[in-house]
Amino acid sequence: MKILVINCGSSSVKYQFIDTDTELSLARGMVSRIGMAGSVLEHKPHDRPVVKLGMDILDHIVAVEAVVSILLSANHGVIKDKSEIEAVGHRVAHGGAHFTDAAMITPAVMTELRDLIELAPLHNPHNIRGINACNKTLPGLPQVAVFDTSFHHTIPPHAYLYGLPYVMYKRYGIRRYGFHGTSHKFVCERASTILGRPVDQMKVITCHLGNGASMTAIDRGVSVDTTMGFTPLEGLLMGTRSGDMDPAIILHIMAREELSLHEANTLLNKHSGLMGISGVSSDMREIIEAANSGNSMAQLALDVYCYRIRKYIGSYTAVMNGLDALVFTAGVGENSAEVRRLSCQHLDFLGIELDENKNQTARGRDTVISSAGSKVSVLCVSTNEELVIARDTERVIKSMTGSPSKTSATV
Ligand code: ADP
Repeated sequence: MKILVINCGSSSVKYQFIDTDTELSLARGMVSRIGMAGSVLEHKPHDRPVVKLGMDILDHIVAVEAVVSILLSANHGVIKDKSEIEAVGHRVAHGGAHFTDAAMITPAVMTELRDLIELAPLHNPHNIRGINACNKTLPGLPQVAVFDTSFHHTIPPHAYLYGLPYVMYKRYGIRRYGFHGTSHKFVCERASTILGRPVDQMKVITCHLGNGASMTAIDRGVSVDTTMGFTPLEGLLMGTRSGDMDPAIILHIMAREELSLHEANTLLNKHSGLMGISGVSSDMREIIEAANSGNSMAQLALDVYCYRIRKYIGSYTAVMNGLDALVFTAGVGENSAEVRRLSCQHLDFLGIELDENKNQTARGRDTVISSAGSKVSVLCVSTNEELVIARDTERVIKSMTGSPSKTSATV
């Protein structure tokens, strides 16, 4: 099946057009600066160079129209007719407790997604905008929502509950949901394939270290705990997000600086993390470069970042009563030997021992980077969330229709 995978942000639409029979990504790209001056469509067909087109893109509908039209274009396209797009798979951030798997988008599902905006006001509205845009541009096509949260639905109550009055959970659904689920699942399964060990016999910790970052404890294929919580703010230090902290701190700062809710939210999500500590950048490459040139604040930010990863490795090994594999993925995890080295430091007591030569040369390859004698296998694996979304989309459509069809309900 040929599936258009869409990942909508507030001012961007990322896409990939994937043939699930060959698992080849036929084209990928991104529309950025939607609704702003200087909107641009960057498009890369699998067999031709990247093209960058400046155009006026007012909203997500125009963005999806631009994507479909470049997929069809004579010079940069990969299809001859719109009908070659057989389905759309959407990355949806929050599926709440309700969506434990990907779901065919129907009017009833749309109602549920709108109800979930309360839980994910920063993410779900854009995802819904993307679904509506596809519905308008590609009417009648089956659309499937694949949730960042679904993989974590197996986390037990003792790990998902916060120490708040229980009524807050009952009334507002306040609990750990976790995110990046498609990526954690994908790299865990890749690691099991690379190691030639069945996933249901392994205890794995996956570290998805991108701009957003999270770690998951996966016990025999099942997510049992993860660092992101009610929102993607909890857990690891990230590019611009604080990660774990004493919740009273924000109350204190709000009072001292007379911050509004919106300003407090911006402080935690946009001005904290690597950026906030270093004052240099939210980009790990620039942090490492500055640290190597003697910038002590960049070094401090890097140290906090890796210390927290190390702390969670220890904690999740305890949660699972053991560890077979530790997997690094996403922009930082796949590319930074320095972050992997610092994160695995002083963990020899757990049986984690990196082969520094393999670690340094791992870049861009799915590979084992632990030493031959290491009790725990450490791996570097490229994530592919879009492929998981395409696979899930096909699975859901086939399970509902027996075969791909174009009979989805109008949203
Ligand atoms: P997103 O969460 O936006 O998908 P990515 O997975 O692309 O993010 O990761 C982006 C992060 O990866 C940035 O902080 C970037 O600096 C970092 N990164 C990319 N390449 C390298 C590298 N060679 N060394 C260190 N960090 C890198």
